[in-house]
Amino acid sequence: MRIKLFASIILIFGLIPSLFASEKLNLADPYTSASLDGHVSFISVSNPSVERLTYSQLSNLAWQSDGGAFNQGYSKDIWWLKVDINSQVTNTGVYLLEISYPVLDFLDVYQVDHQTQSITLIEELGDKRPYLDRQINTTNFLLPLQFDKGKDYSILLRVHGSSSLQVPMTLWHPVSYHEYNQSLSIANGVIWGALLIMVFYNLVIFTRTRDKSYLYYVLYVSSMVVFLFSLKGYSFQYIWPEQTFWNDRIIVICLSGIVLFAALFTQTFLQIKERMPRFYYVIVAIYIASIVSIIIAPLVEFRTSVIYAISLSIVGCSCGLFTGTYLWRKNVKAAKYYTISWWAMLCGGIVLALNKWQIIPVNMLTENFILIGSVFEAFLLSFALSEKYNEEKQLRLEAEHAYAVAQENINAQLNVKVKERTLQLETALQKLKLISETDALTGLNNRRCIDDLMVQKFEHCMAAKTNIAIVMLDIDFFKSFNDKYGHQTGDDCLIHVSGLLKQVADENECISGRLGGEEFTLIVEDSDKHTCRDISQQVVDIIEQSKFMFEDKILKVTISAGVSLMYPRSMDEIPLIFSQADQALYQAKNNGRNRVEVFKSADDSAQHTQSMSALSLNDINSNLARS
Ligand code: GH3
Ligand code: MG
Ligand code: MG
Repeated sequence: MRIKLFASIILIFGLIPSLFASEKLNLADPYTSASLDGHVSFISVSNPSVERLTYSQLSNLAWQSDGGAFNQGYSKDIWWLKVDINSQVTNTGVYLLEISYPVLDFLDVYQVDHQTQSITLIEELGDKRPYLDRQINTTNFLLPLQFDKGKDYSILLRVHGSSSLQVPMTLWHPVSYHEYNQSLSIANGVIWGALLIMVFYNLVIFTRTRDKSYLYYVLYVSSMVVFLFSLKGYSFQYIWPEQTFWNDRIIVICLSGIVLFAALFTQTFLQIKERMPRFYYVIVAIYIASIVSIIIAPLVEFRTSVIYAISLSIVGCSCGLFTGTYLWRKNVKAAKYYTISWWAMLCGGIVLALNKWQIIPVNMLTENFILIGSVFEAFLLSFALSEKYNEEKQLRLEAEHAYAVAQENINAQLNVKVKERTLQLETALQKLKLISETDALTGLNNRRCIDDLMVQKFEHCMAAKTNIAIVMLDIDFFKSFNDKYGHQTGDDCLIHVSGLLKQVADENECISGRLGGEEFTLIVEDSDKHTCRDISQQVVDIIEQSKFMFEDKILKVTISAGVSLMYPRSMDEIPLIFSQADQALYQAKNNGRNRVEVFKSADDSAQHTQSMSALSLNDINSNLARS
């Protein structure tokens, strides 16, 4: 499977590594550009004091070649590189030599003219030399070389430094370079633009959500941007052209920053502490190692710090891939895009490595594959973040919905309970009202109830301008009854009398009640004295005629009644009507009991006196007539 993949990569790029010894580059019309990588021969000089080679030394040295781009990794030696060129161009012209590895420390370029046997220093370059000293201000090293028609030349380079010694070279026709550079600018604009958009977009989301994953993502991508920007030589070109010391240190610091923030992002985004508690300590170790790397970067030799940072990034990347794949397999949704993004990054790294090892060609695509991989990764991670955000939002909505449903249920249950309780309370209140308004012994309305009813009835009668009558009733000689037959029989008698009273009251649509002791009352509305007297007489009669049984004997029970009727004009007249009825009752008692008396007001009395005197006169007259 792996072999197939490897073979496919080679096939895709249609390339087989050049295994031949270096040969001359034929510069012939029409010329656009050519990579010089297959034409390089090189030699290391152990004696660093050899600053320049003489023409005679050139042919005596044992030049080697491996058929590819010069790449000696982190070598401490000084290296001389040579590319032989046979100019067959029709016109003398200036060509551009590009060395597309902008972090080379020291790079001296010479042109050898084999006809004149002269070696001319064209330019001293390198990122340990101030940027602004360059002839042509470009990100990659670029210098003009003039080639005459039909001449043999060599380009000679002296390279050394603490960064990786790679010298990928291209010889451009100026027009082709211009065209290529224009496309490169557009591609760069798209790539850097995309990365910056990702940074700002997620920074805005962080400010709104305060989710740390976004912050770590932003810091991670920002470190990546500065790292790639510096690696590609843009920082040196645009930001710190004079800072030769910091130029390569920044690359190490950023690389360590990438690892640090990637680890922090991984920890928060995938919740490693909760999901992989043991592996969490590995992540913590990576944080610490990254911080150490950042601290030592300016302090130790560049070579040491860069090797440490690269090793750390390899460990970090492997951990990222491991955690992502592990959690993806455990069905953690957020891990899916996270893992794919790391693979994208890894592919970028693999292509870069294949490119550096000359397995695949150096072209705009392969040179920038790591950049493309980074953009792709940044997009995927951003996508993973938004997926996670959506997932959390969904969960939050579901939780809110569940809470609302639960709240609704609780409210419904509460409502039912409240209704039940209210009903119970209302029933209890009604019972209580009934108890408080009912006489316990007889079941008739009690005194309080009668008082309340009187207030209502009075108000009504005053408004309706109708009359109201009160009948006061009192059982005759009840004390003796009690004394004779006992209190219990007295109670039974009270119940018996109440029953009869209620019966008459109901028949005549009036209200009955017990005022206390053996005293009762009737309230008659909108009536007249005759009717009231009739009703009262009915009560008196029904009681007299009733058969109250005691130990097989029928006991005689009688009652006296006093009636008072008035058209109420004020509420203050309530006591008055009772008092008048009481007076009438007193009269009934005095007049022999077991009878009804109606209260007579002063007007009534006057009318009565008149009629009585009229009656007396009539009697006298009739008596006289009879006599
Ligand atoms: P009068 O014809 O003038 O009304 O004479 P009376 O004996 O009925 O009047 P009095 O006011 O002297 O006596 C009322 C009696 O009613 C006194 C008390 O023993 C009796 N009594 C009052 N309340 C109750 C009761 O709830 N149960 C019983 N068994 N007797 C009661
Ligand atoms: Mg009494
Ligand atoms: Mg009595």
